Formats: sequence, structure tokens, C-alpha cells
Amino acid sequence: MKALVKSRAERGLWLEDVPTPQPGINDVLIRVLITGICGTDLHIYDWDEWARATIPVPLIVGHEFVGKVVSVGANVSDFHSGEIVSGEGHVVCGRCRNCLAGRRHLCAHTLGVGVNRAGAFAEYIVLPMSNVWRHSQHVDLETAAIFDPLGNAVHTALSFPVLGEDVLITGAGPIGIMAAAVSRHAGARYVVITDVKPNRLALARQMGVTLAVNPNEKKLAAIQKQLGMHEGFDVGLEMSGSATAFREMLANMSHGAKIAMLGIPAGEMAIDWRQVIFNMLTIKGIYGREMYETWYKMTVMLESGLDIKPVITDRFAWHEYQKAFEVMASGDAGKVLLDWREAGAAGATPAARS
Ligand code: NAD
Ligand code: ZN
Repeated sequence: MKALVKSRAERGLWLEDVPTPQPGINDVLIRVLITGICGTDLHIYDWDEWARATIPVPLIVGHEFVGKVVSVGANVSDFHSGEIVSGEGHVVCGRCRNCLAGRRHLCAHTLGVGVNRAGAFAEYIVLPMSNVWRHSQHVDLETAAIFDPLGNAVHTALSFPVLGEDVLITGAGPIGIMAAAVSRHAGARYVVITDVKPNRLALARQMGVTLAVNPNEKKLAAIQKQLGMHEGFDVGLEMSGSATAFREMLANMSHGAKIAMLGIPAGEMAIDWRQVIFNMLTIKGIYGREMYETWYKMTVMLESGLDIKPVITDRFAWHEYQKAFEVMASGDAGKVLLDWREAGAAGATPAARS
């Protein structure tokens, strides 16, 4: 089968012919249809310090996908060929204290699809049945392809009650923008999002935020005044990984406010802890999605009117992956998709022929 492989310990990804994976007795074999490119994939492409320390070479990369079940192992009775599914990208151990207690998202030994084990940028992927999510018929294929990052947005945005609250989101990347849509859907009063990139702010406006703000142009204190707010934001969703953004957030929260942190800073980050203490803030770290409460919430919110389709800005065929990664790297796009439906259809790949 065709697959995008990190086959060398250097910058780049390579389209290769690799053996089609065989499902074990507890596994599901899935034909991949559409995949999403994540910031993580970009780190792997660039072969930065994190990637060099983390990724075993060779490895099929990618973890955001939707596909169709092809076959199942002998122990699998819950999935059937033809069903439309996605995969939870964290494969948990099932044996640690948290797993045994049913808190699988808190597993101490989680393995990442496309990070520690074979990924989804390929014609086929094999996953344990416990990592497969069957989609509702009401969810379209492209939205299904980005359930993984939508799950990050939903997990973060629903970490604290937002009904009637004023929500500040720092970072209008794809996840921040989806979190804004989720916060609105969940009943927030104001949803203010910040970013330093005009294209991203424009995309956020298209998704229906109260205000999309460049903090270099307008201070959040002035935004609070403009909206008639008196005591600061009630809920903060940090989705930029920027220390500057986080400090601005801390300075604009109400007493007793809650902050959920998804953005991954490049290193250690200093803050004025007195703001946290005297303002009695709660800060919660977020990693991945809750299995499978987040997946359930995504589905029912989409069924009840949540629309995140505008966040998908670019679509490429599987063999146009270089172009797709360039668009991703520009940092101006929303979600970038790769379509694998034609892969393997006519023998040699267009990329290999040229
Ligand atoms: P992204 O990089 O596309 O978006 C981050 C945005 O933050 C960019 O648009 C950038 O311009 C903006 N930004 C930079 N400095 C800023 C500042 N001072 N103020 C406001 N905005 C600023 O990333 P994404 O894919 O949307 O993901 C969001 C974050 O979540 C990233 O840090 C990513 O690494 C992280 N992430 C975490 C998890 C997890 O499980 N914890 C999962 C996926 C992604
Ligand atoms: Zn575990």
C-alpha cells in the first residue's frame, strides 16, 4: 500500500510502498479515506528536537483520519465491514491505575498513533478495537476526518461550565477556532479570541466569535470595557502555547476564574504566580480527549447544530502532500486535508512517476 513514511532521520516525509498491515485478533483493519494534518505532523516533517527525541524511524505518520472498516479480528464483534470510523490517537495500556479505574485518558503509558506506532497517512491502518469510534450517520466525512483535533477543542472548552460565562481564547489556530464554536454552542455569553495573524482572526470571525482581537493592536482591558465587562473573563482556554498570550490571559481573568491549557509552550514559562493566588484561579492541563465522553459530546453537538466545517480551508490529494505541508507550514491556513480515496487505484503514484 501507499503510505507517507518518516523513513530517514532528516527533514521531510516520503511516499513509499509498504506492506499492508494485518489485524490481530483484537484489531480492526481500516481503509483510510481522508486525513487531517496536525501541527505534530509538521514537527515530524521538520525533524525538530522533539521529533528527533520521539519518533522511531521508519514510521508511517499521521493520526487524524476517517476511514471504512475492511475486516476485524476474531475477538471483535462490535465493528463490521463498511462502517465509517475514526481512531482515538492515544492507545492506552489498560493496566495502570487510571486505566483500571476507567480514566483511560489519564493513562501513564499512552502510545501515540503516528508518533509511537504506525499512523494513518496510508491506504490502511490497523487499530485495537478499543481505539475505534463508529461515526453517526449525521456526521459528514470531512468533519469526521478532524474528530481528533475537534476532540482537543471540545475537551478543553467543556472542561469548565461556560453557560452564561465570558470566555477568552488565546490562539486562533484550528483548535482555538473550533473551541470558540463549541463555547458558543455550549451557551457562553461572550467569546473573545486573540491571535497575532490577520488570516486566522478572519477565519475566527467567520466561525462566529464575539470579537477576534490582535493583542498587539488592542489590549484585552480595552476589549473588556468595549463589551461592558467589569470583572474579567470567567473561563480561559489557552490554545497558542505562547507565554505572552498566557500572561495576558492571567491579567484579564475574574476572581475565581478557570483556565484550561491545551497550547504546548516551547519550554519553561514564567508567570506572576501572585495573580493565580490572589485571584484564586484554577488552571487545568489538557492532553488529548476523554475516552469516550469527548467523542460522544462531539457527536451530539454536531447533531444539534454545531458546525465546524469553515475551519477546513485546504484540500489536497494524497500525492500532493508536499504542497499540503507547505500550506500547513505557512501558518495561515485552517485545517488542511489529504484525500486518500484514490490512492492505490491505478498502480504507480503520480508522485513516483514524475
Ligand atoms: P496553531 O499553531 O495552528 O495555533 C496557535 C495560534 O496561536 C497561531 O495561530 C498563532 O499565531 C497564535 N499565537 C501565537 N502567539 C500568540 C499570542 N501572543 N497571542 C495570541 N495568539 C498567538 O495550533 P493548533 O493546531 O490550533 O493547536 C493549538 C495549540 O495546542 C498548539 O500549541 C498545539 O501544539 C497544542 N496542542 C495540544 C494538544 C494537547 O493534547 N495538549 C493537542 C493538539 C495541539
Ligand atoms: Zn494505562
